[in-house]
Amino acid sequence: MSAQYDDGTILLDDATLERFHRATGGEAWPCYQCGTCTATCPWGRVRQEPLLVRTLMRNAQLGIDEDGESLWLCTSCGICEDRCPRGVPIVRILRALRSLAWKDRRIPEGLPSVLWAVHRDGNPYSLPPCERTRWADDLEVKEFEPTDEMLLYLGCTASYDRRIQKVARSVVGGLRAAGVQFGTLGASEPCCGETALAMGQTAFAAEIAEANAKLFAARGVKTVVTISPHCFDMFQNHTPRLDEGFEALHYTQFLARLVSAGRLVCRGSFPRRVAFHDPCYLGRRNGEYDAPRTVLESIPGAEIVELEESRAGALCCGAGGGRMFLETPVGERFSDLRVRQAANAGAEVLATACPFCITCLEESAPQVDQPLKVMDVAEIAARALEPEGADVEATASGR
Ligand code: SF4
Ligand code: SF4
Repeated sequence: MSAQYDDGTILLDDATLERFHRATGGEAWPCYQCGTCTATCPWGRVRQEPLLVRTLMRNAQLGIDEDGESLWLCTSCGICEDRCPRGVPIVRILRALRSLAWKDRRIPEGLPSVLWAVHRDGNPYSLPPCERTRWADDLEVKEFEPTDEMLLYLGCTASYDRRIQKVARSVVGGLRAAGVQFGTLGASEPCCGETALAMGQTAFAAEIAEANAKLFAARGVKTVVTISPHCFDMFQNHTPRLDEGFEALHYTQFLARLVSAGRLVCRGSFPRRVAFHDPCYLGRRNGEYDAPRTVLESIPGAEIVELEESRAGALCCGAGGGRMFLETPVGERFSDLRVRQAANAGAEVLATACPFCITCLEESAPQVDQPLKVMDVAEIAARALEPEGADVEATASGR
């Protein structure tokens, strides 16, 4: 096993080097150690000691094992990759290194139980699959049929987390207002596999993705619309296409299409100053910056302002890459910086479109002196669907 000693001496061995190269596909080799990645990584803004991404890449090149937490800090926000002059796929390499760490049992406490929950219960929260439809108990959302316009895929967080269930209900309200024929997979909805992928369980994630591709083909799914950008990324980029395949969309993309087609019209208003936080998995990782803004701009009264770092330069909330399931101490949360940016922009509402972002930003919102409400784009749209601006989560009788 390769080793690095306190005096800086590195002992390399061929077998470990070969093992690393097989895992990473040699993708770390183009790295010429400029250090841009370390300089851009947000960890350097919340800690004295930055995350040494450049060193991680060098160690991947040389076959040096990573001990400690470094490997597990990455939120897979992708800003380092975006700025890397050599186009090194840093996140993919870090996932490959995590997969080796699993094999060597060098795993942070808590992650194995999350993984077992995905395997056993089909969700990372260890909650019973039969409770997956609780969010819609009074909504009469029907099972998906092949003639439907699209499959609404809830995902684990929107299914089980009470706060995010409200977002799902708002999405349903928007779809019903626009007259969209849709259904869900109900209690048989599977996990998308993103949690396993983010933690470096790449083979397990691929297994889940293949099963989901077969399920979509068998159920006649042509379009799948997700609540979470993480599920969207999984279906868009990591799930194979069988037979005629399927189109994956994030719900903001679907709502933006409805707005453009004149099918979703907000007759009420939302007279607030709103800043939009770009979720990494919608923006940087999938290039979608306009759809959520199209929906927000269609809402009468909403004044949209941009955050200091937005679109491709957006600051991560801190919950991607499996960090949602690991503790981040107070004072080291990226979301604390983000809510301060929202306050500096004079925003009354910090809007976003990702369950993980909502959770982190809402926890950080009390850090600023002025009132700052964190809302999902779907919730804002639902508010503005009714002329009186009532809270319009979906109900069984229409919306
Ligand atoms: S930015 Fe790219 S080339 Fe520069 S050190 Fe990081 S991975 Fe290597
Ligand atoms: S993806 Fe984001 S969190 Fe991970 S190393 Fe790069 S900049 Fe840091």
